[in-house]
This record gives sequence, structure tokens and C-alpha cells, in this order.
Amino acid sequence: MAAPFVVIGGGPAGAVAAARLAQRGESVVVLEKEAFPRFRLGESLLPQSLHVLEAMGVLEEVRARFLVKKGAQFHDDASGKATRFSFDGAFDHRYDYAFQVPRDEFDALLLARAASLGADVRHGWTVTRALASAGGVAGVMARDPDGREHALDTRFVIDASGRDALFAHDGRATERLDGLENTALYTHVRGMAREQGEREGDVHIVLFDGGWHWVIPFKDGRSSVGAVVSRAWMRANAGVAGDAGRDADHAPASLDRLLFKAIAESPAMTRLMNGTEVLWPARAAADFSYRVGRSYGDGWVAVGDAGGFIDPLFSTGVHIAMWGAFEVVPAIVAGELPAWDARVRAGAGMFLTAVRGFYKGALQPYMFTENSRTYLRRAITSMLSGDVFSDERWTRDMRERLVTLVGA
Ligand SMILES: Cc1cc2nc3c(=O)[nH]c(=O)nc-3n(C[C@H](O)[C@H](O)[C@H](O)COP(=O)(O)OP(=O)(O)OC[C@H]3O[C@@H](n4cnc5c(N)ncnc54)[C@H](O)[C@@H]3O)c2cc1C
Repeated sequence: MAAPFVVIGGGPAGAVAAARLAQRGESVVVLEKEAFPRFRLGESLLPQSLHVLEAMGVLEEVRARFLVKKGAQFHDDASGKATRFSFDGAFDHRYDYAFQVPRDEFDALLLARAASLGADVRHGWTVTRALASAGGVAGVMARDPDGREHALDTRFVIDASGRDALFAHDGRATERLDGLENTALYTHVRGMAREQGEREGDVHIVLFDGGWHWVIPFKDGRSSVGAVVSRAWMRANAGVAGDAGRDADHAPASLDRLLFKAIAESPAMTRLMNGTEVLWPARAAADFSYRVGRSYGDGWVAVGDAGGFIDPLFSTGVHIAMWGAFEVVPAIVAGELPAWDARVRAGAGMFLTAVRGFYKGALQPYMFTENSRTYLRRAITSMLSGDVFSDERWTRDMRERLVTLVGA
């Protein structure tokens, strides 16, 4: 049998790539180091990912199991202003909703679908490195659940290892994104009051002096809450932190203290948290934004977070992962990875410009002004719905406008 495609990692990027390969009748092995279900951040999806779920044949199951998200709300503590972007205001609103998903369940569903389509999904397998061929990749070394090492010959390797970014870290370089050296402190709560009807599933972004908070409601009554704070805020609160660590799996009490300090600094978040039950001690992730120099080569490509990660302000990570993984399969087969890479980078670049514009304060006046500049509002709504990869006239226009707006 011909050597198969190997996908490293079974998150959204890996599952989508594996499913699409299997749908085309290709032989594909997914090596996932963890047993599923497993926790992940990235719980708020974007409408423009939905065609991928539909093509995989899981859209109806996702709709049945998860909370529908129809908009994004932004609240500014300093000015007291609030604004809501309803996805039906996007230029392309074929899908005018998305979903809020606990990732343990969502990722397990996607990966199970890839398996049911024919992918050979192996949990507990850790890829340790690429096997080089002349100038490229010819296979991978992987450790099975019993600790035995295997050399796997491959037809092609898709690195979907998330922020572990196996190939990028293995000599192909990652570069931190200046000005986005933030830390996220997060937990899940139960019992947070919600709006009813159309707005129940909205994501809430609450801006405060030290950064911003997210609130992501789930169908079962839980909500994900988190604070993304700057390096300066972390430094200023070092006394509160005590021994707070980086990417701590077992959060020290100091992470709780930091998260609740950030909540206490925000009147809007304090109100929202009133009466909620906190379900587990706060955890943290730090310095998560980076780009990779090279995301494809002879015999390999990196998709999803393995190909770079932008600050999560606009809930873009899973969308970039799923869109990129869906499109990469025909690009590999057709030998068109340079064009695929250019499209991914252009789309991700638009998100990055918007994120930078937001942190600089340049985007807020446009976001918080309703009913004026209709075109601009629709453009921002389209960006928030994830419509950044198309090459429509207005998408190009929007890209230019955002750059002009934020001076990036
Ligand atoms: C603070 C924060 C908040 C976020 N909020 C959002 C949000 O609201 N919405 C959103 O869309 N995104 C959000 N994200 C981003 C989101 O988490 C990621 O973009 C998304 O999970 C990327 O999917 P992926 O498949 O590329 O990687 P992952 O989901 O990380 O999956 C990678 C998989 O690879 C496996 N793996 C890693 N190394 C190996 C190896 N060597 N061998 C075998 N398997 C391996 C891992 O176990 C994992 O299962 C957020 C991120 C952060 C940091």
C-alpha cells in the first residue's frame, strides 16, 4: 500500500484535513498524543467556518448539541458604551450564525467524524520529529502509547500540532508578534445571567484598563470566562500574583487571585459574575501570538496554530484552522501550496491588522459608532464573521481600509 498522508494532531485543523482526505479516498493516519475528550481554549466559532462543518457532514449534529451564536457584543468600561454586531449584517450572510462549543466535546465530535469517514485515528501517539529527505520531509518518528518508537514513511505530512508547532519549532523558526505579549487567565462558571432569545448565545467582550474579558455561554448553562491582560498589567500585579506561572496545568491560587483582580477592575464583568459558581481554579496561557517563517515545503505543510497564532480577541483561531485545513487538501493534490499559503496569510493578516488596530485604540471609534458609516460597519461585521479569505472586491477594499484606519 502507498505510504499514507500523516496528520500530526487531532484538533480542528487535523480533524478537518483528515476528513477531507478520507472523503477523497486517500489513506490518512492521524497521530494525536492525547486521549480525547481533552480541554482546549477556543470555544467561540465564526459563521464562515460553517461550510466546512457542512462539507464534513456534521453541521446538523453540531447544531443539535451546541448553543447558536448570532452576534458579538463589545462593552467598554471606560466610556460605558456597548455595541452589538449581528452576523446577518455581514456582506456574505449565507451563514448568519455560529456556535459556542466546549472544545472537549466539539473536537471529539470532529475527530470521530474523520474516523467514520475512513481516517485511521490513533490516540496516545506522539510525533517526536520529522524524518528528512533531500530538502524535505519523508516521514515522522512517533512514540506509541506503550512507549515504542516507530518510523513512519509518508506520502505527505500535515503538521496540525497546534501551538506546539512541531515543525516550526524544529528548526523552521517562530517569531513572536510585537505588542501582543499578553496573558490569558480563565475558568468556567455556572449560573451567569443571560439575555434570552436571539442574543442568548452572543459572545461578550468587555474592555477594561488592563485588557479585555471574554464571556462565552454554553448550552448546558456553563459559561467560559477569561481575562486577556498585557505584560504591563501582569508586572503591575506581580504582588497579587505571588508564584503565578506560565501555561500552568495545575493552577496555583495566585492565578485565581489575578483573574479575580482583573474582574474586580471591570464594573461590567463584576456585574456579570455576580452570583456565579466558579467550576475550577483559574488557569493561564501566556505569550501565545506568533508567526512562522515557512509553513510548507517538500512533503509537508503546517495548518492551524502550527502555522501561526493571532491574539484571540476576535475568536479567529479555530476558523483559521478549519478554513486552512479544508483548503489545504486540494492545494496539496494540485501542487498549489504557494497560492494556498498566500491566501491564509492574507486572511490572517487582516485579522492581525484589526487586532493591532483594536489594541492601539484606532478601531474602537468605528466599532462603537452605530448607524453611521454603514459600509464600514458591514465590513467590520464581515471581518468578525470570518470573511477574510475571499477575494471579492469589497474584501480587498476592506483590507485596505483597515490598514489605513489603524495605520498598520
Ligand atoms: C486565550 C485563548 C483564547 C482563545 N479563544 C478562541 C476563541 O474563542 N475562538 C477561536 O476560534 N479560537 C480561540 N483560540 C484559539 C484556539 O485555541 C486555536 O486556534 C485552535 O485550537 C487551533 O486548532 P488546531 O487544530 O490548530 O490546534 P489544537 O486545537 O491545539 O490541536 C492540536 C492537537 O495536536 C496535538 N499534538 C500536539 N503536538 C503533538 C505531537 N507532537 N504529536 C501528536 N499530537 C500532537 C494536541 O494534543 C492537540 O490535540 C484561543 C486561544 C487562546 C490562547
